[in-house]
Amino acid sequence: MSDERRLVSQDITGRTRVAGVIGTPVRHSLSPTIFNAAFAASGLDWAYLAFEVPDGAAGLAMGGMRALGLEGLSVTMPHKGAVIAALDRLDPDAEALEAVNCVHREGSDLVGHNTDGPGFLDALRVDEGIDLGGLDVAVIGAGGAARAVIRALAGAGVRSVVVVNRSSEAAERAVALAPGVARTGPPEAVGEAGLVVNATPLGMGVVVGTDGSGEPLPLDPERLAAGQVVVDLIYHPAVTPLLKAARGRGLVAVNGLGMLIHQAAHAFRLWTNEEPPLEAMSAAALGGLLHRDQNPD
Ligand code: NAP
Repeated sequence: MSDERRLVSQDITGRTRVAGVIGTPVRHSLSPTIFNAAFAASGLDWAYLAFEVPDGAAGLAMGGMRALGLEGLSVTMPHKGAVIAALDRLDPDAEALEAVNCVHREGSDLVGHNTDGPGFLDALRVDEGIDLGGLDVAVIGAGGAARAVIRALAGAGVRSVVVVNRSSEAAERAVALAPGVARTGPPEAVGEAGLVVNATPLGMGVVVGTDGSGEPLPLDPERLAAGQVVVDLIYHPAVTPLLKAARGRGLVAVNGLGMLIHQAAHAFRLWTNEEPPLEAMSAAALGGLLHRDQNPD
């Protein structure tokens, strides 16, 4: 069925409630696929659209959200920080991280949330059955995703987080999000962790690695140790060079798709007050990724 035919057959009426995502570029976002599948599976008369909002226009977009009565917006690059000035309130995660990935309407107020950290925790606890309490964790990277993960891990009761990053300034800023739990460390520290998280883009296939081999690896796989769980926040490709290396050593290897689904699930709960249909969301995301592979542009 063509995309045009699908649109014609949708039951959009004057009562349909509208949510969406702002970002640029946004046309490759999986969020419309995930959320529209979720609304359909839940029988909700909602629709979700992608809005291409240029850099510098996040505030205007929030004005649009108020004027148009949009129910919720996901926020992606480059607006996660800039949107804050146009909101009425922030949840504690968004405030600490100084980054918003979800805007929720509460009466006439627009409230900024950051669901990446809770989404990461759910991906490990709910999908993988991993008990995080007392774990020693190594996080590679100190950007937006790493920061959300580090804060969430500290809140989840891990024993320690060592942050390994190319730039020491960014690493120090990330460590400050989890005082008493997180510290900076050298790449060798990876071997001592029970859980290893790649929060760099190394492995997406377009960035040359740091190990000198030209492979897009965030760490030398020789540093991986028996019994570790290895998580890559990348979800495309589904098996990154790091995950392949981890599996080759018999380790549990988890990609970022679960985090993507669960951060969306938290937004779904905020907006609709309903439990998200996780299976429908995962199936839609996998279908969207397959479609993307078959129709590159
Ligand atoms: P970001 O804010 O740009 O941070 C990127 C981090 O990677 C920085 O710490 C940077 O180090 C490091 N880095 C980048 N290129 C590097 C290289 N060539 N060598 C060594 N380190 C390098 O990006 P982000 O938003 O945190 O995203 C990071 C990854 O997480 C991306 O792959 C993204 O797709 C993924 N992600 C997944 C989800 C999910 O739901 N699964 C959500 C968010 C992000 P410096 O500090 O030294 O620059």
